[in-house]
Amino acid sequence: MNSKKISVRIPANPDECLTSWLMRTCFANNINIKDLFSQISGYYSNSDFRTFHQLDVNPYRVLNFKIAANLLDKSINYIEKLTFNEVLLKFHNFPDLFYIDKTKAFFKDAISIKYRRFCISCLKNDIYYKLNWQISNITHCQIHNEELTHKCTACNQCQPYYHENLMYCRCKYCNKSLVHGFLPRQKSNNPQKRELSYWFEQQWNFLIDSNNTLQPNTCEKKKRLVILFLFICGDMNSKFDPRKIKYISRDYKYKLINFICSSENKNGSFEINLPLILKTLKAINISIENFISINIPNTYTETLEDYIQKNSVIKCLTPWCPDYDSPIKFIKVNKFRSKTHLNIHICSSCSIKYGVNKKTKTWEEYGDLISLGYKIVLPLLNSGHHKLYIANKIGISRLKLTKIISYLTLHNLITEVIINNYTPKKNIAGSTIDYFKNYLNSTETQIINTVMKQNDWSRSDAYYHFFNPSVQIAYFNISKTNEL
Ligand SMILES: [Zn+2]
Ligand SMILES: [Zn+2]
Ligand SMILES: [Zn+2]
Repeated sequence: MNSKKISVRIPANPDECLTSWLMRTCFANNINIKDLFSQISGYYSNSDFRTFHQLDVNPYRVLNFKIAANLLDKSINYIEKLTFNEVLLKFHNFPDLFYIDKTKAFFKDAISIKYRRFCISCLKNDIYYKLNWQISNITHCQIHNEELTHKCTACNQCQPYYHENLMYCRCKYCNKSLVHGFLPRQKSNNPQKRELSYWFEQQWNFLIDSNNTLQPNTCEKKKRLVILFLFICGDMNSKFDPRKIKYISRDYKYKLINFICSSENKNGSFEINLPLILKTLKAINISIENFISINIPNTYTETLEDYIQKNSVIKCLTPWCPDYDSPIKFIKVNKFRSKTHLNIHICSSCSIKYGVNKKTKTWEEYGDLISLGYKIVLPLLNSGHHKLYIANKIGISRLKLTKIISYLTLHNLITEVIINNYTPKKNIAGSTIDYFKNYLNSTETQIINTVMKQNDWSRSDAYYHFFNPSVQIAYFNISKTNEL
């Protein structure tokens, strides 16, 4: 396309966001904002206004900074300052910025990306949109003590992140001015909410300012931050104790611990959650500035390392398990003691049991649902072989094969073409555990026979329900009997 020259150059306000400045520049030069975009698009093209917010939130994904700087006659640094780029860089390595999943999880709901927020009195003075206005926790304008809004005062409709009426300060829907008809309710009469907003604004201002650095230790930057976060979640106790961690969920706690032991290239699934960090800091009343300069005591890192060494062996190695390679969902098996394995645990996601082999000292499956069921039976089943043929071919009893197939069916591992042959024909009412809870002290064979009789189930249906993780956890978690 013909690139229109930008001849009128208007300066950006220091607290303005990039999208606002671009809108005003286009307005002043009488050019279509889509035309400007097509010239400055970066890694991913940005012709869709629904992703317009990314210019402010993560500009490197959508903007070619070199071309933009050239066209707008400003330095790259000048443009970066109008965005949240610096906040991202404080917690990420530069190449990570191109993975949307990472930044999405990092900001979570911290930034309002759907609606354009504004202070009516600020807009009255000068029509431009501030970067901080998009931060969800900032609810008030510090200059006017007024609540920010994203709604038209005339028709109450929410204003989108981008619309060309925003340049005239008019509502997208009713075209009335966004700054007229100021309602007194915007004057905040909730000092607590206002104070909270100001506290968050301070933290964000610190993060946005590129003069403030996190610890210069770049390579292990993220891990150090996670350890620091665990440290304050444990009320800065000098020793690591997983039971005394507050403010975060159990799952998230283990995700953090797991992340600390992961190797550099294998941490894709975990992301720091900035709103959670800020919320926790508010709860214990520490500013982000003080937070990042906290010194972690040596005793803390040592006890944490000890804990990780002791526990890192416990992890799920089941290929189809959603918690593969993670220690999160393990529960100790109390039902029996084994002659061959120590420290037997069951994964509550896939209900496969693991233990340490007494002879070889390796952490491995206790049982053979993976080694026999998944690796040998499943391919034979999926290639269409009959049950009887399979039992004969690999030399196992039909009962054992029935059990394996019920497990594979429940976990949806059998090919779509034939899985219906093995799925129970009737759905059961209520939760599965209710059918079993009265018999959990019995042996497996007794339980299966009882529930078959009581509910008129086939043997394979009975095993199908027995393998339900909730039943398995309850069954193996009860007090000791003899080895199975
Ligand atoms: Zn204001
Ligand atoms: Zn309106
Ligand atoms: Zn598992």
